[in-house]
Amino acid sequence: MDYIRLRGLGVSPGIDIGEVHLTEKVVFTSRKETISSQQVKEELQRLKNAIGRTNDQLVLIKEEIRKKIGEEHSFIFEAHLLILKDKSLLSSLEKIIKEEKSRAEWAISRVHDKYQELFESISDEYFRQRKFDISDVLSRIYSNLKPIELKKRDDNSEKILVAHDLLPSEAAVRLSKGNVLAVALDMGGQTSHTAILARSLNIPAVMGLRNITQRVKNRDILIVDGTDGEVIINPPLAIRKEFASKKEKYDDYQQELKKTARLRSSTLDEVVFSPLANIELPEEVNLAFSLGAEGIGLFRSEFIYFQSTSLPTEEDHFLIYSRIAKEAYPSPVYIRTVDVGGEKNLPQLKIEKEPNPALGLRAIRFSLRDRELFKIQLRAILRASSLKNVRILFPMITELEEVKEVKLLFQEVKGELEAKRIKFDENIPLGVMIEVPAAAAISDILVKEVDYLSIGTNDLIQYYLAVDRSNELVSYLFKPLHPSVLRLIKFIIQNAQKEGKEVTVCGEMAADPLSAIVLLGFGLRKFSMNPIFIPRIKNVLRSVEYKTVKGIVQKAMALKTAQEIEEYIIEKILVKHPKAFLMGQIT
Ligand code: PEP
Ligand code: MG
Repeated sequence: MDYIRLRGLGVSPGIDIGEVHLTEKVVFTSRKETISSQQVKEELQRLKNAIGRTNDQLVLIKEEIRKKIGEEHSFIFEAHLLILKDKSLLSSLEKIIKEEKSRAEWAISRVHDKYQELFESISDEYFRQRKFDISDVLSRIYSNLKPIELKKRDDNSEKILVAHDLLPSEAAVRLSKGNVLAVALDMGGQTSHTAILARSLNIPAVMGLRNITQRVKNRDILIVDGTDGEVIINPPLAIRKEFASKKEKYDDYQQELKKTARLRSSTLDEVVFSPLANIELPEEVNLAFSLGAEGIGLFRSEFIYFQSTSLPTEEDHFLIYSRIAKEAYPSPVYIRTVDVGGEKNLPQLKIEKEPNPALGLRAIRFSLRDRELFKIQLRAILRASSLKNVRILFPMITELEEVKEVKLLFQEVKGELEAKRIKFDENIPLGVMIEVPAAAAISDILVKEVDYLSIGTNDLIQYYLAVDRSNELVSYLFKPLHPSVLRLIKFIIQNAQKEGKEVTVCGEMAADPLSAIVLLGFGLRKFSMNPIFIPRIKNVLRSVEYKTVKGIVQKAMALKTAQEIEEYIIEKILVKHPKAFLMGQIT
């Protein structure tokens, strides 16, 4: 039998093999069926009934999902219920039925196209993905226009789910059943609900395969390799064997990592460190803790702006922050105020086009210009702080004046809440991100003004080495181990230590094993990173002795280039702590 290999986007790691289960997709009509004026009332009632049925289904599914896979995954249905209640959506559907004298199916199809077009024009990937929520709700209404059919009996055997796309509610319902071995989709991206859900349920998934639905049929055999983003249709025995052994290795490795999550975060000589998680969505909190996070070291709050075409309200902010704070409690949650502008420009913020956005109106600069928006966010963070595990971080600080201004504004907001007798944590700690070289150079001054520093090495290295962090052409120059970068980071850590203040590294550097060893040697104890890297870093740091690392790093600082430093540390650590290398952690 011929077999086919397809490349896609590995969005959830792991490997599985099984029979294909192709899902059917709701296809909106492209034919306008007209009705008479007398039938309009009846048609509007038909639409209303379908919406009512959709509402009942969503409420039921939400409850079922909450019970089966947890509160955090039932939230999308809350979002869907809100979409369903959206007056403008309903009135545009009714308007088409009335004005065009058409069937409700046609109205849904038209409204669907309009929304898809609107969302498609948005450049941000995460934001664009939200079009699927609208699609999801409209598809459900569309299906509910049909008379209720007797349900076919569900086939509960384990299968590989293949679909053109999975709407968020469909993904939650199907993936929570426990009989999906893996997922392969024509469409989809890293930040889709399905990807997030697959990752948190540990289901391998490959997306963006373009036309897999046309290449397979039910009962074909499929290998899905979510780690490498590959799918193989009807593999011969030799390839099946190869992947079965790869799967075994991967599963064993996962077991090892999971074990790591439950172990103490301390070096061989009992120096305690904290792995923390950088997250962008509330849905990631549980995954982070299951991988061993001891807190949320960075919540990139700007992602709230990507979830709607309009500006988020104080309530929108508040719901998200309090949900994260509750789920992480009693562990700390560092909420970073919005870092918009720069690459993360959004149409609703109306930021002028800038010739050099990376050096422009970004992060705290934007917040201090648009103070009303900033105050909305500060109020929401404060309101969510009543459990006393919320902390604040201000991004892209350049000078002392900004810190003073931010603190004044913060006092003002606190005063407003007090006047309204709204509860919050009066001693909520404040910190700044050190991402601009100028802030690093005056970190001894800045640290006196705040409770902690958080070093954002992604930007700090970009600005210090003048290397665009997302430009492939110069990525060879982006070197965390460049002696200049290490001197600067050491200086910042020492400044925090002198004042007895906390310091965290929250850039990608913290997730790189070799860099993490160097940072440990500098005295760093808080490492915040993408949750999936936590077990790896925890393993590495647990297998070294702080005292030894400190000595090695001290000597390395006398070397002249990143390469010399890298080679020296690898050589010395390999001799002293070969276990740090054992699981292929350091390469
Ligand atoms: C950083 O710059 O290192 C950082 C953590 O912030 P972001 O990646 O969101 O810019
Ligand atoms: Mg940054």
